[in-house]
Amino acid sequence: MTDAAASFEPSERVRAYTARFRRFLDEDVAPLEKALADEKVGTPWQPHLDAAGRMHPTVWEARRKVQRRSGELGLYAPHIAEEFGGGGFSRVEMHHVEEYVYRQSGLGLGLAALAWTEGPNPASPYMSASLRERYLTPLMKGQITTAFANTEPGVGSDVLAMNTYAKRDGSDWIINGRKAWITNPHFADFIHVTAVTEPGAGSRSLSMFIVDAKTPGFSRGIDIPTMIDDGLTGELEFKDVRVPAENLVGEVGDGFALGMSFINWRRVCRGGMCAGWGEWLVERAVQRAHSRKAGGKTIADYQAVQHLIANMDMDVYQARATSLVAQTRLDQIGCFKIPLDNEAHRLISLIKVINDQAFYRVCDNAIQVHGASGLRLGSPEEKLFRIARNLRIPAGTTEIQFNAIARGVLQRNKTKPQPAP
Ligand SMILES: Cc1cc2nc3c(=O)[nH]c(=O)nc-3n(C[C@H](O)[C@H](O)[C@H](O)COP(=O)(O)OP(=O)(O)OC[C@H]3O[C@@H](n4cnc5c(N)ncnc54)[C@H](O)[C@@H]3O)c2cc1C
Repeated sequence: MTDAAASFEPSERVRAYTARFRRFLDEDVAPLEKALADEKVGTPWQPHLDAAGRMHPTVWEARRKVQRRSGELGLYAPHIAEEFGGGGFSRVEMHHVEEYVYRQSGLGLGLAALAWTEGPNPASPYMSASLRERYLTPLMKGQITTAFANTEPGVGSDVLAMNTYAKRDGSDWIINGRKAWITNPHFADFIHVTAVTEPGAGSRSLSMFIVDAKTPGFSRGIDIPTMIDDGLTGELEFKDVRVPAENLVGEVGDGFALGMSFINWRRVCRGGMCAGWGEWLVERAVQRAHSRKAGGKTIADYQAVQHLIANMDMDVYQARATSLVAQTRLDQIGCFKIPLDNEAHRLISLIKVINDQAFYRVCDNAIQVHGASGLRLGSPEEKLFRIARNLRIPAGTTEIQFNAIARGVLQRNKTKPQPAP
């Protein structure tokens, strides 16, 4: 096998990680899932909501138990550098880890075991040393959770038009603004928030701050119900929130770049997630096709159903291949480097958009194979179809990815001589 081919295979440490993760699912997660089922508060993927529309506290606590235990076992944050307590895995290694976790967990509690939006992200290590000790260390162990607050009620894709401001007052900063569509707003112990610090300075106009949820002036707003229906999206308000200078993440003016490193992390994670869930759906569709009878034979005997499954397999294959090829290159040029290499923007957007679109078709075909039972509210196919539709908006819409891909291609070819006719 050549070196290039070998790089697409799970490394030794990925294999060691997935073996430990398998044991964790069997020994720790399975009993918690059973205990949760007995509580009759919904499932991890279709939780009951409380009176305010938030995830039922018992389901949230079951997820938190999984995260704390995963943190104790060193399974929670393989994507963060070793010097900050993570696994130091490359992006290709993380593709394999994410694919494994999604494939093996399905829609169960095991998904919470790998840090997601509520865990440490590529911007977190830019905290000052004292903040790292106070927030990053417990976050890495799953002992506390966070949120990333960038979007506002009036501003989504057009991030630089945001209306949350941070003004200097002596050595402190005073933050005012409202954020919306934020994941984990109800439970986060602290927030990574972006705010304007130098109006008119373009991509240097924003800075990122850490705000403890106990800070006076900070409040949690309404839950925003979405088609995912998990009670984990909502608003946050910052009213004269005073934070010391040490709560600045990175330097003044780094907020846009740090925010993009969080967003780009969410984008590249689509590869392993869509591959893992996609393979799970293909397997469920195959089982269904072999067991469901129509016209005296199984539906797997009908070419029309075989083609639905072939299309699912094709979509998973192409999206997975895109992710592995692009993340191999991103490992060479830096996926979260500040400033980011021009080529990286295009590759990151290719991973997101190809996976989002392919996974949407996979979920659609999965429902078709299952017939009416694929439409049953709360079935895995129905839930993943809603998740797949959602994926095309957060972390940058499909159209914003097209813009980045087009920019990358146009810039790349700008200086090349015209090919001979
Ligand atoms: C479930 C969920 C979780 C989320 N979690 C978070 C979170 O944790 N933190 C956070 O900060 N945000 C979060 N978001 C917000 C998310 O990032 C934004 O919804 C997203 O960036 C799009 O912004 P918007 O919804 O305002 O759409 P808009 O920006 O208003 O876009 C509307 C339409 O116009 C198109 N459009 C806009 N600008 C352009 C352009 N320049 N070129 C071409 N087309 C364009 C878009 O593609 C889209 O079709 C979340 C959203 C959801 C639904």
